[in-house]
Amino acid sequence: MDFSLNDIQTEVIDSTRKFAEKEIAPIIDEDEANSHFRRELFPKMGDAGLIGATAPGDYGGSELGIMEYSLILEQLAYYSASYAASFSVTALPIKIIEQFGSEEQKQKYLPDLITGELIGAFCLTEPGSGSDAKSLKTKAEKSGDNYTINGVKQFITNGGQADVYIVMVRTDEKEISALIVEKNCAGMSVGKLEKKMGMRVSPTAEMLFENASVPAANTIGRPADGFRVAMTALDSGRISIASIANGISQAALDKAIAYAKEREQFGQRIIDFQGIEFMLAEMATELEASRWLTRRAAYLHDNDLPFSKEASMAKLKSTEACMRITTDAVQVLGGYGYMEEYVVERFMREAKMLELVEGTSQIQKLVISRNLKKD
Ligand SMILES: Cc1cc2nc3c(=O)[nH]c(=O)nc-3n(C[C@H](O)[C@H](O)[C@H](O)COP(=O)(O)OP(=O)(O)OC[C@H]3O[C@@H](n4cnc5c(N)ncnc54)[C@H](O)[C@@H]3O)c2cc1C
Repeated sequence: MDFSLNDIQTEVIDSTRKFAEKEIAPIIDEDEANSHFRRELFPKMGDAGLIGATAPGDYGGSELGIMEYSLILEQLAYYSASYAASFSVTALPIKIIEQFGSEEQKQKYLPDLITGELIGAFCLTEPGSGSDAKSLKTKAEKSGDNYTINGVKQFITNGGQADVYIVMVRTDEKEISALIVEKNCAGMSVGKLEKKMGMRVSPTAEMLFENASVPAANTIGRPADGFRVAMTALDSGRISIASIANGISQAALDKAIAYAKEREQFGQRIIDFQGIEFMLAEMATELEASRWLTRRAAYLHDNDLPFSKEASMAKLKSTEACMRITTDAVQVLGGYGYMEEYVVERFMREAKMLELVEGTSQIQKLVISRNLKKD
């Protein structure tokens, strides 16, 4: 397997970096301080061809692979993990509708999601069901041509800001279905807006469903396909989370190296102390290993090969490495690392979220070991 970057991939990195330098770098500190989500960034990301990178050309996408998408996310996360996370969640409905939706659903939703005019959300988690997603309780009862939804979805990224929600519901004792619910659906409302340790720009909200009525035609695939739809989306979503982790890790490593070259103690640069040298060497090695695992999973995905185990390995390794690398970056900066002004403390807070979402580290180990038993 050759993971050296081709011309298109190098161009993807350069153009995403230019976009982030222009649109995200100047505003991110202010947005993080105010937990302010800048919705107007999404049409700009759409314009730059970032949101629809992997989507079919017929709907306005660029038909690139997950490899290129992973490079985009890594670059965005280098500047803002919060915006990268919201971006990756809006891409989940695109992927789901593209893969499982009807032609009518594709024509209705994909073009505007790809341009960033519409924002997407993915609603699986509930107060009583997180890792054990299959035990979800939100109910959708069919009457005539409609479903009536009742229940609560918890910790929904882009909740309240999104226009298109993919909601996993129980349509029968044994049947989980995926329904498209639009923002203005009567009976769907935004509950608690969470205050979080990190990723403060990216909104996380509770979504409430009280007799929310949607046409049965909003079902994605067949009624009983919901769990498969959700799990398929999470498999590729894990490559996205790994890519975001690698972007944060690179940003933390760059900050640590730059600081260690400048800072002097005991009459010399701290970067020349072996204690610091070894820490930086380990950070760089951990990041490189994470990146190659992520690219391997993306390569398998793009070549239609089984990639579920590798996506979990990439997510597990990259997010745990990110936690270590960002913690070490704070250590390299000493007391300054603990101060908001030097930013690395934000990276450390952001890293923690990645070990939890789209399957915690423990759940990744379950997926990997299940695959090992199968192999
Ligand atoms: C910032 C943020 C954004 C999120 N965005 C979304 C979103 O957009 N959409 C969405 O649907 N969800 C979202 N989530 C929810 C997220 O996916 C869940 O938090 C996650 O799946 C874990 O579920 P839980 O929090 O209920 O923890 P639990 O499942 O209760 O787990 C608690 C602990 O038990 C461990 N555990 C659980 N089961 C096992 C097991 N079988 N073996 C070993 N250990 C186990 C877990 O690893 C964890 O350490 C978000 C969460 C956060 C924090």
